[in-house]
Amino acid sequence: MSRIWNFSAGPAALPEEVLRQAQEEMLNWHGAGCSVMEMSHRGKEFMSILAQAEADLRELLGIPAGYTVLFLQGGATQQFAQIPMNLLAGRSADYIVTGSWSKKAFKEAQRIGNVRCAATTEGSGFTRLPTPAEIKLDPFAAYLHLCTNETIHGVEIPAKQIADTGVPLVVDMSSHILSGPINVEKFGLIYAGAQKNIGPSGLTLVIVRNELLGMAPLNIPTVMDYAVMAENGSMLNTPPTYAIYIAGLVFQWLKRQGGLLAIDAVNAEKARILYECIDGSAGFYHNPVDPDCRSRMNVPFTLARPELDATFLAESKAAGLMSLKGHKSVGGMRASIYNAVSLEGVQVLVDFMNDFAKRNG
Ligand SMILES: *Cc1c(COP(=O)(O)O)cnc(C)c1O
Repeated sequence: MSRIWNFSAGPAALPEEVLRQAQEEMLNWHGAGCSVMEMSHRGKEFMSILAQAEADLRELLGIPAGYTVLFLQGGATQQFAQIPMNLLAGRSADYIVTGSWSKKAFKEAQRIGNVRCAATTEGSGFTRLPTPAEIKLDPFAAYLHLCTNETIHGVEIPAKQIADTGVPLVVDMSSHILSGPINVEKFGLIYAGAQKNIGPSGLTLVIVRNELLGMAPLNIPTVMDYAVMAENGSMLNTPPTYAIYIAGLVFQWLKRQGGLLAIDAVNAEKARILYECIDGSAGFYHNPVDPDCRSRMNVPFTLARPELDATFLAESKAAGLMSLKGHKSVGGMRASIYNAVSLEGVQVLVDFMNDFAKRNG
């Protein structure tokens, strides 16, 4: 059986090595006589899987001791509500809106409490970052929320542009966490749904500075309280055990690739060849995003002649290149080139795109 070249935005490609290991361990995990799905989350086998996954994640990202790692459920969407529930503490928070996901986070937070839009680039079709002059920060905000990689619009905030503003930074890194090194200490809270660049859906990672724990009012549900989840080692109730196990295998795979600096170099090269193909197509393909903030993980592009979209999709599919249809809100195409999509896979896509442009240009 041959596997597809998978450009899905999420749930997305996983490393084949990880899937093979899971297959080998499916019926009998390390002599336990059962699969990871069938074992108690409180038994020593699963506790060791969780501890190893956390240790490997801490090593990969360089997470300092003053931060807690939570393995939660509910997706990044649940975090849109859970963050203000825990961190607002009767105050206001600032949101910078750079695409669909930060817009959703802002809207959801409005249901919970008092939040402000500190800047939005919606008027520019979410194709650029706000200029410093456009950002109106509240120095007393409980936190400042950003989405550092907008999965739909393909807008990524370069790490070096994320400056300290004096209030805790809360960031949605769902679609580019682990794509390269970050300085965790810059952030008060990092969150990510797993199904883009980590593992299966059903798991949500939250990495939170310990000082931000314990601020939640008493009337929020127990399961939504970060401090309670932290005290219970993410095991107040049953965690998403199988998703944690697969995420742990992905962390080990990342370490075998040489860690985040090594994967960063591969990701840079993948993005370089794909944008070069788009920009070098004499207008046949077009990516509208300001080159200073183009995403390295999600590359949306349109065809100058949209009447060719259906042919592009049919022919790419026939060539084994899957899930290239763009999000309905932006149209056109999108190639998501997460860690598990190899340079070879992106090269196959680029060769197809060059050939398609030649035949139809
Ligand atoms: C996919 C995505 C979400 C939503 O994730 P769910 O796990 O489906 O709730 C939120 N933010 C970003 C940046 C995403 O890519």
